[in-house]
Amino acid sequence: MRFIKFKNSDEKIPIGKLVCVGRNYAAHAKELGSEAPEFPIIFLKPASNVIYSGEPVKHPPHSNNLHHEVELVLYIGEDIKNATNETAEHAIHGYTVGLDMTLRDLQFQFKEKGEPWTLAKCFDTAAVLSEVVLKKDYKLRGDEIISLSVNGEQKQNSSIKNMIFPPVEIVKYISARMTLEKGDLVFTGTPEGVGRVVPGDKIEASLENIGKITTQIE
Ligand code: ZN
Repeated sequence: MRFIKFKNSDEKIPIGKLVCVGRNYAAHAKELGSEAPEFPIIFLKPASNVIYSGEPVKHPPHSNNLHHEVELVLYIGEDIKNATNETAEHAIHGYTVGLDMTLRDLQFQFKEKGEPWTLAKCFDTAAVLSEVVLKKDYKLRGDEIISLSVNGEQKQNSSIKNMIFPPVEIVKYISARMTLEKGDLVFTGTPEGVGRVVPGDKIEASLENIGKITTQIE
């Protein structure tokens, strides 16, 4: 079982489901050759995919195109269904930075055939997290800088204000369709600049005022 790691708290909360939003930055949708979506595109990852900053990402042998995606991640601190603006905001108890590691070659193959993306998004070490910063310690302004570099070269750099669907809208949308529970994590999508990494590459990612991730591909 995987547990949430908190900054400034020893609380032991098992990680629930990872609910992820696809194509939530217009410039990223464009770089994948896709339209900006009308509604959030939602997929899941299992908690068993989670590792933390400092641990290595294991490159699956069945892919030749492992991509990095840096994302703002919301920590859901209470069970919530059919959220309103107020209850959605209230249910977000904290934030962290995450990597949604993606097998882009498999994803394109699945998309072409109209098959589920599951195996392009789910593999051991496919979700890299930093410590969750509780909202009582820092409340997002909404224009924090999110960035990622590979071997010291900057690849992704944007502001979370460029998200098509902001956190409250995402939580409302998901919770109208499935209950979000205490311990769930919501990956809110990646800005443009995604790209391939290979064994030996070192990734550094950060979300302003929230945290940092360092990991190496193995
Ligand atoms: Zn993603």
